[in-house]
Amino acid sequence: MTAISSPATLTCSRCHCGSSITTAFQQDDTEVLCPRCAQRARWRMLWLNVMSMYVLTITILLSLYFLSLYFPLTRIGWSVYLFINVAAYLFFWFLVLGLYLIVHSVLTWLLGGTVFALHLGGGPILVETRIGMMHIAIHRYPSFSYFQAAFPQQETARVRFLTLYLTGIIVSLILTISLAMNFRISNLGTTLAVGELFCAASVFILVSILIPSHFDIGGAKLPNNAARILQLVKDRNAPAQLHETFFILKTTFDIRSKAYPAALSSCDEGLRLYPENLILKSNLGITWIELGRYTEALQLFEGLASLATDNPPFAAIFANNAGWAALLLGDREKARTYTQEAFALMPWEPAVQGTWGAVLVEDGDVDIGLHHLFQAAEQHMIPHNRAINFAYAAVGLYRIGKQEEARAYLKKATALDSDTDIVRRAQQEIV
Ligand SMILES: [Zn+2]
Repeated sequence: MTAISSPATLTCSRCHCGSSITTAFQQDDTEVLCPRCAQRARWRMLWLNVMSMYVLTITILLSLYFLSLYFPLTRIGWSVYLFINVAAYLFFWFLVLGLYLIVHSVLTWLLGGTVFALHLGGGPILVETRIGMMHIAIHRYPSFSYFQAAFPQQETARVRFLTLYLTGIIVSLILTISLAMNFRISNLGTTLAVGELFCAASVFILVSILIPSHFDIGGAKLPNNAARILQLVKDRNAPAQLHETFFILKTTFDIRSKAYPAALSSCDEGLRLYPENLILKSNLGITWIELGRYTEALQLFEGLASLATDNPPFAAIFANNAGWAALLLGDREKARTYTQEAFALMPWEPAVQGTWGAVLVEDGDVDIGLHHLFQAAEQHMIPHNRAINFAYAAVGLYRIGKQEEARAYLKKATALDSDTDIVRRAQQEIV
């Protein structure tokens, strides 16, 4: 027997995709889950958490009511208002989450920073809109809210962030205490208890930002206010990292806002200060792709892919981007080689799966291509990416003679994002 050394691989128990990037999988005694299936499980948990919080609130209210039957301590009348208030609670929860986002945004601006995105809720994005450069997304589950902000000032970023998170806690504390002072439990049974519901929601939120913890935003874990403060106090190297993060966010959101000239100049500025930053280099390549500079982008990503061999997740993303640039350039052979490489490493990543699906459609393997495109579209958080998946699916369907379906998917793609090269290409092909 000869020993053949091959990299260890893991296969997901649910979707059966496999990869040699074994660290990405989540394993327990019974199951091995790829990041995509693990995320689905987390979203289910998130939904259960939201629902159980609701059930808990209802239970507390009802027990208060039954208590009031035997003890004159609490006086809640058995009226329809009790149920109206319970039903309205979820709405107030959302309202306070929104208020918390507004408070933090205003504080960020006052401190000289930039707010890139506000996220209300967790899980997949339902609605996304943009005010100037700021993205506002409403997600499926009303569980928590988070924002993406950064400061362009290198030296003082740490102090500014500390001030931001501390002030956030203090504002929340003052709001909660002032609401609690006017809290009348009897109002729950006699009127629409706006103040009391507001108070209940803000107590929950105060607790959730005051006890250091992380919450799962799908793929990444974000620290809450208290955890961030601890991080900033402990980590002395924070200023440089925070400044680097500013450029990563700036370039990423310039691209998402389709402000490509701005993206070019912020990539340049960032790379001048942090020439080794791979995400900034990658964002430069993505901007080139969006500007139709495919040859330059292909060269850049080919170089990055060969540099990143010791970091398989990065290698997969760079190979994927090289494949995408090659596909748009019309180099089908290179497109297939790079995309296949990326797909073998990260089949669960929607960007990788979408590119692979598009390459298969171009190469005439439409059925398998469609399968990957639809799965990628389901997973993508951002509407722009779903639009690209649907546009390619429409092209595939059109080529195998399913013209009605093709037009339906093209319509979907156009509704999601009509200002995209791929959607325009599909519109030209499908008549
Ligand atoms: Zn899986």
